[in-house]
Amino acid sequence: MTNVKDVYDVTIVGAGPTGLFAAFCAGMREMKAKVIERLPDPGGQLAVLYPDKFIYDAPGHSKILAKDLVKQLYDQSMTFAQPTYAFEEQAKGLALENGNFIITTDRDAHYSRAVAVCAGIGAFAPKKLSIKGLEGGRPGVHYMVRNLEQFRGREVLIVGGGDTAFDWALGIKDIAKSVTLVHRSDRFRAHEASISEVIESNVDVRTYYELKAVLGDEKIEGARLYDNRTGVEQDLRFDDIVVAIGFEADLGELRSWGTEMDEHLRHISVNPRMETNIPGIYAAGDVTEFTYLEKAELPEAQQIDDGTRLSLPSTKFEERTEKWGLIVIGYAQAATAINHAKRYLDPKSRLFPGHSSEMLS
Ligand SMILES: Cc1cc2nc3c(=O)[nH]c(=O)nc-3n(C[C@H](O)[C@H](O)[C@H](O)COP(=O)(O)OP(=O)(O)OC[C@H]3O[C@@H](n4cnc5c(N)ncnc54)[C@H](O)[C@@H]3O)c2cc1C
Repeated sequence: MTNVKDVYDVTIVGAGPTGLFAAFCAGMREMKAKVIERLPDPGGQLAVLYPDKFIYDAPGHSKILAKDLVKQLYDQSMTFAQPTYAFEEQAKGLALENGNFIITTDRDAHYSRAVAVCAGIGAFAPKKLSIKGLEGGRPGVHYMVRNLEQFRGREVLIVGGGDTAFDWALGIKDIAKSVTLVHRSDRFRAHEASISEVIESNVDVRTYYELKAVLGDEKIEGARLYDNRTGVEQDLRFDDIVVAIGFEADLGELRSWGTEMDEHLRHISVNPRMETNIPGIYAAGDVTEFTYLEKAELPEAQQIDDGTRLSLPSTKFEERTEKWGLIVIGYAQAATAINHAKRYLDPKSRLFPGHSSEMLS
């Protein structure tokens, strides 16, 4: 039997900007909210794909770095209540038991009366290299780095040429015994300042080098690198291999939750209340596809019948679908979804959440 204390009012899948703002809206409505996020940090696309780019169309900011907007959204989500964040968990299964949804992740089962799917373009996960010995979970193999101290006094190989690879190189260069960074070309995708700082540091940066094989049976003893211009191979000693070659996103098992989706199974269909076809499940942000009616035929010129009556041809409407890939639309959809979820949970409650300016003094 589920302890009622473990049942949340709303569980939000995804901590991108839409999910973070949904968590804020839930707090404003005194809803007990939980957010499940596959990655160890919030932010979705802003954190993973463009943390150091300026955003110019975030309301209230003439320009703001994506990573700074994420921090503000995360802090803002704590304004009226403390949502529970379940990071490093991917929502996979969905079941209904005694009127509660049960969302199963790779680690846990979460109980909720309503669900808001804010999954964007899917759960982000680090891209893997299909080289024997580089399986995730093997000691010495890292696809995400949480604790820099684990590299103290060790010889570390970093594979990658983007922001993540360079940030980790900078983070561990003074902790590790040695850091080698290999990238398959001389075109890095990292922030210019980070590239300069790494190149001027003690990090051994090797361009046009790739990882060919992992050396060592029980534990990692080194790596075979090769120069992709000449094919020359070199075996070097390493204790750890950090793979930072980017992220991929996949909606995965969310596709089989029973919510209506577009034909490509990339977007969840919602109505103007952000309801899906399953009562109690809402969706908002990039993951949604919105259906609306558009005038198919404009009325022809007005006609005068008998010189007295106006007759207008009947207006036809056609169904159209639209997808928005904008942060600001995600905010509006999150507010819509959460306030409708509130009324779904408590039919006597008002849809309008009230003015935040009148809630805290
Ligand atoms: C390069 C680039 C620049 C952009 N610039 C702008 C801009 O200037 N202005 C603007 O308005 N928009 C911009 N966008 C678009 C904007 O980033 C998106 O509209 C926004 O990120 C959508 O937010 P979201 O929260 O809906 O989805 P996402 O940001 O995709 O976040 C979804 C989150 O859900 C998580 N998730 C998904 N499935 C699961 C699961 N099953 N379990 C657990 N977690 C899960 C993911 O890991 C992710 O963290 C840009 C996009 C890109 C790629």
